Amino acid sequence: KVHVDKVNKSYGSNHVLRDISLDIKQNEVVVMIGPSGSGKSTFLRMLNQLETPDNGTIVVDGYDLSDKKTDINKVRENIGMVFQNFNLFNNYTVLENIMLAPVELGKMDKDKAEKKARELLETVGLAEKADVSVNSLSGGQKQRIAIARALAMEPDIMLFDEPTSALDPEMVGDVLDVMKDLADSGMTMIIVTHEMGFAKQVADRVVFFESGKIQESGEPEQVFAAPKNARLKEFLGKVM
Ligand code: ATP
Ligand code: MG
Repeated sequence: KVHVDKVNKSYGSNHVLRDISLDIKQNEVVVMIGPSGSGKSTFLRMLNQLETPDNGTIVVDGYDLSDKKTDINKVRENIGMVFQNFNLFNNYTVLENIMLAPVELGKMDKDKAEKKARELLETVGLAEKADVSVNSLSGGQKQRIAIARALAMEPDIMLFDEPTSALDPEMVGDVLDVMKDLADSGMTMIIVTHEMGFAKQVADRVVFFESGKIQESGEPEQVFAAPKNARLKEFLGKVM
C-alpha cells in the first residue's frame, strides 16, 4: 500500500530524513513516535507530496510519486490527512465542511455528498451538529469533524499528525475512540502521536524516529515492553 525506500530530505544543511525505508500494508495501523524535530511530520507530509524528498522512492497506492507522469491530485484524493490544528473552514457549517471536497472535486453530487456527510457525522457522534458553524464547536468536536471531512473523500489511507496534541485532556478520549473505530473498520492508518496507551492498544506496528532515522520498529508489545535501542529506552522513560 505504501512503499518507501531509502528516502532522504534536507532543509539546507539540516539532514532531516536519513535513508528512511518503510513498507505499510493494506489495513495496517502504524504509529510513529519520537522526539520533537526527529522528522515525523516531514515523513508524513512526503507521502502526499506536501514535501518532496531529495532522493529515494515513494510508492503510494501503486503511484510512484517521483514519476513525473503521476497525477498527484489523484493520489491526494485517496489519502486523508488530519492535522493537530484541524484546518477547518471556520465560517462554514459542519455539513458544508464535510461536503466541500467531494462536491468541488466532482466525486459526488450534492445529494450524495450530503447523505455521506450525515452518515459520517453519525459515525463520529456529532449528528446533531450538522447545521452549526464550526466556530461554535469545542476542539475535540472540531477534530472529529476534521476526521469526518477527510473520510468524505473515501480515502484508502488516513494520515494523522498529532491529532490530539492541541486538545484539552477531557476531549482526547472522544477523538481516540473515533480513530480506534476507524482502525477496527480496516482503514490503513499512519499516526503520529504521543498517546502511548492508544499506540499499545491500536497499533499493529510502532516506529521510533530519532534524528531522522528509524531507530527501531516492531509490534507494540515488543517496542514498549522490551525496547532494544538505547535512545528509544530513554524516550520511553520520559513519556511513559
Ligand atoms: P514535532 O514532534 O515537534 O512535531 P517532528 O518529528 O514532526 O517534530 P519535523 O517537523 O518533521 O519534526 O521537523 C524535522 C526537522 O526539519 C526540524 O529540525 C525542523 O526544524 C525541520 N523542518 C521541518 N519543516 C521545515 C521547513 N519547511 N523548512 C525548514 N526546516 C524544516
Ligand atoms: Mg511534527
